[in-house]
Amino acid sequence: MKKSKTKAVFLDRDGTLLRERGYLSRPKNFHFYKSVFPALRLLQKNGYKLVIITNQSGIGRGYFSETQLKRVHDALRLSLRKKGVRIDRIYYCPHVPNAGCACRKPRPGMIQKAKRDLNIDLSSSYLIGDQTRDIQLAQNVRVKGILVLTGFGRSARREAAKHSTKVATNLMTAGRWIVADAQRP
Ligand SMILES: [Zn+2]
Repeated sequence: MKKSKTKAVFLDRDGTLLRERGYLSRPKNFHFYKSVFPALRLLQKNGYKLVIITNQSGIGRGYFSETQLKRVHDALRLSLRKKGVRIDRIYYCPHVPNAGCACRKPRPGMIQKAKRDLNIDLSSSYLIGDQTRDIQLAQNVRVKGILVLTGFGRSARREAAKHSTKVATNLMTAGRWIVADAQRP
């Protein structure tokens, strides 16, 4: 019997899980969109690993340190845990846009690393985000992308249309689609 691989939902952080409010360096500054908790619980219940992938060029720009970012992410995990959600991994790109790194979205570095770390089957995985680069990244690594209209979502609609990417009003709608899509024969 073939060992079954892991399926995952890759989640953008700012504008998808959290309200977009510029560079976030302190835990107390974050606010989740309301549909995030039930959506993530639904995906988790259906066997998806939850993996956050986020560009954090504020580090490369010297606005905050990796230690501060880790504190933010610990607090984020804890808040979600209290709502019954377990985040499997968080990957971030600390580099500035012109650094030429392999990890800044839409480049595939973070997803490739997650694939290796967690043995993820990309063909049964999804990526949800609010920006053009999220949609492009989904295309680049061949996972199914969904644009959410929270955050900067409205300005990425044209890119979504170009790739026939689904557009969801919020994360709960996206979560329901994923579960329904996966159950289709
Ligand atoms: Zn990078």
